Amino acid sequence: MKLEGLIAAQKRLAVGHSILPVLAAKQGSVEAGIGGEERVTEIFRKHSFSFDHHIFHDLSPTSDEKFQMDTNVLTPWYGVVLEVKNIGGILEFKENPPQLVRTRDDGHKDGYESPVVQLERNRDLLTAWLKSRNIHLPIYGAVVLAYPKQIVAVPPAKTKLLFPNLIPSYIRSIPQPAKKLDIDTFNWLSAELVNSHQRYIPRPICESFRIPFGDFRTGVWCVVCDRFGMIKLPRTWQCPFCKATDHLAHQRALREWFLIFKRTITNRECRAFLGVDDIYTANRILQSRNLSSEGAYRYRTYKMDFSLNK
Ligand SMILES: [Zn+2]
Repeated sequence: MKLEGLIAAQKRLAVGHSILPVLAAKQGSVEAGIGGEERVTEIFRKHSFSFDHHIFHDLSPTSDEKFQMDTNVLTPWYGVVLEVKNIGGILEFKENPPQLVRTRDDGHKDGYESPVVQLERNRDLLTAWLKSRNIHLPIYGAVVLAYPKQIVAVPPAKTKLLFPNLIPSYIRSIPQPAKKLDIDTFNWLSAELVNSHQRYIPRPICESFRIPFGDFRTGVWCVVCDRFGMIKLPRTWQCPFCKATDHLAHQRALREWFLIFKRTITNRECRAFLGVDDIYTANRILQSRNLSSEGAYRYRTYKMDFSLNK
């Protein structure tokens, strides 16, 4: 959704807008992150383990503090949290203060929050999450560099650093002491983890990047000819340029509204954004099954329930 919002926002900004390079760079880093996580997923798909285990990707368990784990392995003996990074160049893991410094080919340096700190935080929060369910399991952790093209000049002092193909042997090397969860508890705990998952809904782009609403173009986009300005007809939308019709065009546009502008929309905002004059037409559009409403009459606002549509 973060990536979807970034792409939608760039499409609606004028060529040459000063924020465009910032959004494009962010898009690049989000794509790199997704690419890295997919690579790790691929490794797990190819390897099997002879002991009971469950693998979770992109899990955000509900707890007092929000946390999100790239990859998490649960066994009856222990848990493993993997923090996946896809940052190219020469990497230095600094300790005091903790920071990741990347040197690009041209010598330019960038600083990042230390993955070691993120990993330790996730280990602590997962341990606390387990404790609140009366489960005491050791939680191991490693930082995974998604691609071997990432060159490490200074590794972290105490944290295990892995490339994806080293993950299976790392996991096999973790001791399996006599004390372990019985199979029912293990399965129950795995289900608890999945049930406690909360879908991550990113902040709207306007809020994250402080872009005024007025900088974005409004209107409904035609997927056939890549232009804005589809016109509402009874039961469908039509593109004035290529004449294509699309009866779901407003759904895509509304989704973009929530990703770019804000979490709620009013009838007036909906009309202005979609380019619809009629209050009742806008009403019908907003009575969609994936929107919930709050308030009455002209104060009514609508919210998208993102969990209903992937
Ligand atoms: Zn068109």
